[in-house]
Amino acid sequence: MKTVTSLSELRAARAELPAPIGFAPTMGYLHEGHLSLGRRAKAECASVVFSIFVNPTQFGPTEDFNAYPRNLPADLALLETIGVDLVWTPTPAILYPPGFQTWVTVEEITQPLEGGMRPGHFRGVATVVAKLFNAVGPDKAYFGQKDAQQVAVIRQMASDLNFPLEVVICPTAREPDGLAMSSRNTYLTPEQRRAAPVLFQALQAAQASYTRGERDAEALRQVMSRVLAAEPLARPQYVSCADPLTLQELQTIERGALLSMAVFVGKTRLIDNLVLG
Ligand code: AMP
Repeated sequence: MKTVTSLSELRAARAELPAPIGFAPTMGYLHEGHLSLGRRAKAECASVVFSIFVNPTQFGPTEDFNAYPRNLPADLALLETIGVDLVWTPTPAILYPPGFQTWVTVEEITQPLEGGMRPGHFRGVATVVAKLFNAVGPDKAYFGQKDAQQVAVIRQMASDLNFPLEVVICPTAREPDGLAMSSRNTYLTPEQRRAAPVLFQALQAAQASYTRGERDAEALRQVMSRVLAAEPLARPQYVSCADPLTLQELQTIERGALLSMAVFVGKTRLIDNLVLG
């Protein structure tokens, strides 16, 4: 496994790799969710590239950019175990040199849900992913369903900007108690960690209601809100039952739905989602 930092090193190492190339962009502090992307890429591609970059432009001014957990030696050791070929660890100065002023803005689909709560977040995500795609030139790019709106934004961006690659979505990796794996779970105190599976419990309760025939979206939002309300450490920011393609809130479920939520547990903001139908 080769690790490179500069763009010229990346391009030289990339040129040596056999195609097809699978690529997974990450912010590091890797866990089983990230590794599941790598294993899928390994199964489908001749070469696998990861990037590790905590992207400053997708964090809001009051968010956790500086506190975001980092452990490059541990990340590299994990990537080695799954047979990754090339790891790119650019610095902020490489991706955003002085005078940088070109941004990728995906419009409608970034407005609701996470985009509504985190202004500018998806501009940062779309811009950095476009830059990573340009630099790496992958045939397939791997993303997690855990970040459902991110997947929709990247798909739209890749299609609108004619990136010649396939976006592959991998299922959300969970802890045994249902908590979606996330680098941010490390912020939770033991007490908060015990409360955190309530997100998945709320999603499952709404899914059970849907399976019993409920098609009223507001009824499903209420099911989720009631489960969350029973956990004193959980403070929901939004609870959504939206169209899986447009991400607009639904009244009635006709062609499936994306259930999603953002919930503060202490100071930690957790997200999770589940697709119905
Ligand atoms: P991040 O490092 O949080 O930016 O995540 C990098 C990639 O890993 C994104 O495509 C995420 O959606 C994906 N990912 C993060 N957590 C999980 C998880 N629990 N299951 C599956 N994919 C995940």
